Amino acid sequence: MSAPAVTITGHRGLQHEEPLIFERDSPGMTGVDLPEPAPVNDRLGGLGRQGRIGLPGLSEPEVVRHYLRLSQKNYAIDAGMYPLGSCTMKHNPRLNEKMARLPGFAGVHPLQPVSTVQGALELIGATGHWLSVLTGMPAVAMSPAAGAHGELTGLMIIRAALEDRGDARKRVLVPESAHGTNPASAAACGYVVESIPANERGRVDLGALKAALGPDVAAFMLTNPNTCGLFESDIIEIAQAVHAAGAFFYCDGANFNAIVGRVRPADLGIDCMHINLHKTFSTPHGGGGPGSGPVVLSAALAPYAPVPYVVSDKNGFRLVESVEESDAKPFGRIKGFHGQVGMFVRALAYMMSLGSDGLRQVAEDAVLNANYLLASLKDTLSVPFEGPCMHEALFDDRFLKDTGVSTLDFAKAMIDEGFHPMTMYFPLVVHGALLMEPTETESKATLDTFIAMVRGLAERAKGGDADYFHGAPRLTPRRRLDETAAARNPILRWSPPAN
Ligand SMILES: *Cc1c(COP(=O)(O)O)cnc(C)c1O
Repeated sequence: MSAPAVTITGHRGLQHEEPLIFERDSPGMTGVDLPEPAPVNDRLGGLGRQGRIGLPGLSEPEVVRHYLRLSQKNYAIDAGMYPLGSCTMKHNPRLNEKMARLPGFAGVHPLQPVSTVQGALELIGATGHWLSVLTGMPAVAMSPAAGAHGELTGLMIIRAALEDRGDARKRVLVPESAHGTNPASAAACGYVVESIPANERGRVDLGALKAALGPDVAAFMLTNPNTCGLFESDIIEIAQAVHAAGAFFYCDGANFNAIVGRVRPADLGIDCMHINLHKTFSTPHGGGGPGSGPVVLSAALAPYAPVPYVVSDKNGFRLVESVEESDAKPFGRIKGFHGQVGMFVRALAYMMSLGSDGLRQVAEDAVLNANYLLASLKDTLSVPFEGPCMHEALFDDRFLKDTGVSTLDFAKAMIDEGFHPMTMYFPLVVHGALLMEPTETESKATLDTFIAMVRGLAERAKGGDADYFHGAPRLTPRRRLDETAAARNPILRWSPPAN
């Protein structure tokens, strides 16, 4: 076993095995000293458990240390750079956390009388207002709980609008570079999904889009900037073509971080866009949530937004809770209660503390950082599309040709260097893709360390040390996982029954 290529620079807590808490059991040991229970009437008829229930015996300091050590094995944005493309892993300012923990927000219950939660309702409205201003869109549906949930909501709104005009359309067009959630959401909404190819510049092929548009197309879903990290430069013409076909223009706004404060999606002709508060607006994500995916809407789509929503008049704030109560045409409800209110608190704290000029600078710095990576690494790695890029830098695996090292092997070796790997094999339009999104969080010093690490590994790969990569990672408690096992496992291979 040879040493890592570069000195370990990032996170070190990964290295030691931590036994299960059950393996640390010392029978009889306990962290609490409870009095013997007073005798009670036994209503279980003698069926009560007689023996131990099998909880491990540990003292309080042993429990605390066990869980602290486990927490240190997690790689997180709070531990080091996390350049996962298309995920916008940015720092969550601690001010956000402080605000979310204010008892008036943290302690409210969704079933409280509205007169007692006026502040929380005002906050939902204010967060929506900021999103409206930043996107130029007149309305926003706040309740979706993730980006993919926002996509489904947006498509259900579009379907409701089309049905209302007696126009049942069947197809949704999605570029082949799209995030997998886009075709999945359209299919979940009952649409036939059709893929639109990219051109040699990594953008949507406008000719192919125009050829595919027709009277049965409900929507075109575009990500802008797209998942190749490129601005869709034909977007105005795309919007015109989509509208001329009577379809709606859906934008996947997960990459809004690149343009926030600089470009208003409404000015690009977009009808509907979800925003990942857990990306652009710094609320925590990873590990499955809790996310938040509000959807901004054009005037044509606004009436179909789901309940509940907040309205205000001279008596204060209240909620429109049901379709019957609404004077618009909500398609129904997409989520219990009002959305992820804790995320709204964090996002609003972030927006208010940065202000509109600060948000614009977020986009500028994020784009600058990505271009710094692209310019610094384009001769070491290989690039499918010429820069400049937007918020993320895309590389392909041609630099690994004939080395016996794959994109996956390269990523595994990065773990030993103390960094979370970039996104791999996505977007699908690029062979062996490596997609890096540094976000504005990272300093030049951190980027320089990262660049030196990637250059060191690339040199090692080109120098013929493929075995080193095949054995990585070596410094983690679990070594190389067999990721092909999932494909062989009949349970994980499950797919929904055909109807
Ligand atoms: C993250 C992402 C999504 C999905 O968002 P979730 O909150 O993870 O459901 C959709 N599209 C793109 C481009 C993304 O990056």
